[in-house]
Amino acid sequence: MAKKKILLIYTGGTIGMSKTSNGYAPMLEAFHETLRNIPDLYSDNMPAWDIIDMDPVLDSSNMTVREWNKIGEVIRDNYNSYSGFVVLHGTDTMAYTASALSFMLEGCDKPVVLTGSQIPLCEIRNDARDNLITAMLIAADSKVHEVCLYFGGRLIRGNRAIKASSDELTAFASPNFDYLAEANIEVKYNSKLLRKKSDRSFSLRKLKNVPIGVIKVFPGIQFELFDSIMVESLKGVVIETFGTGNIPDTGDALLPIIRKAAANGTVIVVCSQCPRGAVSLGAYEVSSALEKAGAVSGNDMTTEAAVAKLYYLFSCGYSQKTVKKKMAENLRGEISLV
Ligand code: ASP
Repeated sequence: MAKKKILLIYTGGTIGMSKTSNGYAPMLEAFHETLRNIPDLYSDNMPAWDIIDMDPVLDSSNMTVREWNKIGEVIRDNYNSYSGFVVLHGTDTMAYTASALSFMLEGCDKPVVLTGSQIPLCEIRNDARDNLITAMLIAADSKVHEVCLYFGGRLIRGNRAIKASSDELTAFASPNFDYLAEANIEVKYNSKLLRKKSDRSFSLRKLKNVPIGVIKVFPGIQFELFDSIMVESLKGVVIETFGTGNIPDTGDALLPIIRKAAANGTVIVVCSQCPRGAVSLGAYEVSSALEKAGAVSGNDMTTEAAVAKLYYLFSCGYSQKTVKKKMAENLRGEISLV
């Protein structure tokens, strides 16, 4: 039987970095040289692979909608030529890119696995080698039909992932959804959680640079300072509230702003600062007013997924009313509906 063939898309990140006088920076030639020096990558037990580099390669802190579109275009242009895709990416914004791609790659039924590492592949002791090899094997396996993230032994649905640790090798968590697979002695898939093959044909929805904002509530927040950006500048705002969707209701500043923003066409999504659990508007008096003022519950979505979903829905050209309605719907497994 012919070997499966996968495509690696190298965007940058620690996995491909080397030390410079200003700290670690992503490298192109040096990374390719390191890959050439790992014989296991060319073993009979590995899929065949090609690699395409982004130009330039980036620290993922510099990722924007433009780079998400470029990654999407590479996948679209090569979709029929490969069994799966591995996106090599920095860890800092990997959960955002994974969320964005999960929406942008409409009807995707091939594995798209994002991975990276906390220690560069060129270092003697690193987590990069296992992350890379296991991600490649998952991308060549036909079990996964969605965008996911592999890191430190865990395969996570892309739009459920968060970067949970800045220095541990198990850097990513999936606080509100079980892992799609765990890689121990064997890679064990959680088959009932994997998405079914899509019945839509594949297409890429490119994103527009829609003005989106995230506001984290804290004790003493002076909401009036956010009035003009929420009302006039932004099309979508994710408010990271306390607990189940609670905001301070003394001072009466936020609700009039939310009402004005909603009337002005801004979609306000309520997420929680707690990684685990869901928003439940109306559970407390301090949250019920949010809903009445026109905000929509993000339920158990991560902020990363909510931001990416806002970009996606506005890029689809939907009206404010439709964006609001769809924010509460389950589009790609990003939200649990009861
Ligand atoms: N700053 C790096 C990045 O996100 C961190 C990493 O890759 O671990 O590109």
